[in-house]
Amino acid sequence: MVQTDQKNALLRALPKVDDVLHDAKLARYAERLPHELVLDAARRAVGQTRADVLAGRDVQVDAASVARMAARSLEAYLVPSLRRVINASGVIVHTNLGRSVLAEEAIQAVNEVIRGYSTLEYDIDNMARGSRHAHCEKLLCALTGAEAAIAVNNNAAAVMMVLSEFAAGHEAIVSRGELIEIGGSFRIPDIMQQSHATMVEVGTTNKTHPVDYERATTPETAMYLKVHPSNYRLIGFTENVGVDKLHELAARANEARPEGSRVLVYEDQGSGAFARLSSFGSYAEPTVSESLAAGADLVSFSGDKLLGGPQAGIIVGSKELIDRLKKNPLARALRLDKMTLAALEATLRLYLDPKAAIEKIPTLRMLEEPAERTKERAEKLERSLAGYISADDARLSVVPEIARAGGGALPMCDIDTYCVKVDFVRGDALGCTRYLEQEFPTPIITRLKNDAVYCDCRTVLDELEIELIAQAFNAYFEGLGE
Ligand SMILES: *Cc1c(COP(=O)(O)O)cnc(C)c1O
Repeated sequence: MVQTDQKNALLRALPKVDDVLHDAKLARYAERLPHELVLDAARRAVGQTRADVLAGRDVQVDAASVARMAARSLEAYLVPSLRRVINASGVIVHTNLGRSVLAEEAIQAVNEVIRGYSTLEYDIDNMARGSRHAHCEKLLCALTGAEAAIAVNNNAAAVMMVLSEFAAGHEAIVSRGELIEIGGSFRIPDIMQQSHATMVEVGTTNKTHPVDYERATTPETAMYLKVHPSNYRLIGFTENVGVDKLHELAARANEARPEGSRVLVYEDQGSGAFARLSSFGSYAEPTVSESLAAGADLVSFSGDKLLGGPQAGIIVGSKELIDRLKKNPLARALRLDKMTLAALEATLRLYLDPKAAIEKIPTLRMLEEPAERTKERAEKLERSLAGYISADDARLSVVPEIARAGGGALPMCDIDTYCVKVDFVRGDALGCTRYLEQEFPTPIITRLKNDAVYCDCRTVLDELEIELIAQAFNAYFEGLGE
């Protein structure tokens, strides 16, 4: 504890705001930022230092130290907060890291559209006002076999919109085994409430039978909602009712109903795969067309999970139902902007050639890449690292590991991968990951396990990233000094 007279001495030694402002460390900011911001940062730094002294904390009170504190807070105005990172975590669709990396074709399309005016809502053929929904609809229909489609802000928005349009004021039946939380506070019961649909839970956590839906069906039933349990799996003694069976049940219920009050089958597919990838193995996700073919009236899914496109929520189904969604006020509130539409359209176009899609859409390429190819990249990274750091710094090895699809897709699916494992002779794994993420100009996200750092090369994109990772480790060890 700092004594009172010592505290008073420190308080007297506190620099004036003016002294801090004129410290050389703030010059670079004074040149580029409004004076008010720099002044405010200097005041706050002095205030914080005073508070630290009063609280008995150990602080430097000289002008240079206080100026350094102000400089740190000003740096945030000059460095982008949203910026590129290198994903060496091995989680392919990493929600915290922006999910899917866009294909070059999608990047080009965005670039083209944002540099000038565009046909966003202009129909060249008819020389008249057009609809932004038109750009992706044809492709979505061709790729899924649906009659009509609409894309909105994300899949959470899509679920919200479908429930509000078709189940508000009515009942939607859902299995207790599918009342999921996706993360980021997206929970099926909450979304139901928000969209004014009455949720009718049926079955149990592990087992739901067709008869459960049948018994719960009343004249108020508007929908059988099926939710893909994206990020978890029930295994063992379980049973759920497939879309084909739900379609049958709905057809039976609809026989006795007047036109216009049908029970709909809606599947929230979450990841929404277009193609069955070999990497999915026995945990294959159902594809969108399979779900439609099995009798779903509507299917919705994300644009940036297994699809590998931009953030979007896509709804496909019959023209009659999609037309109703297009007229819902939420379609306006949740609509996509031109950058997303351009990226989505370009990504979808790649799917017209399924082989090209796997090569050109990074998410698909990373999911499908043979482990041997990942190993080659890991060996390249090991060689680059060995060029910078010596055996006195760390021991390097290329080791087999397991990567993850992420994004709430394929949770049971182990993807074979190779990592460069760094065992520390000098420094330590925790300090190193902190350096890689916080100090290196391009943050690098790795895995930390048993006091070693693992760089998973399945999600490392190219030679440039390999070189940057090597440079980052080099900078870490240089920073430790001799
Ligand atoms: C991911 C997911 C969502 C939410 O989709 P976003 O595109 O992230 O909004 C909804 N439902 C399921 C089943 C999901 O997996």
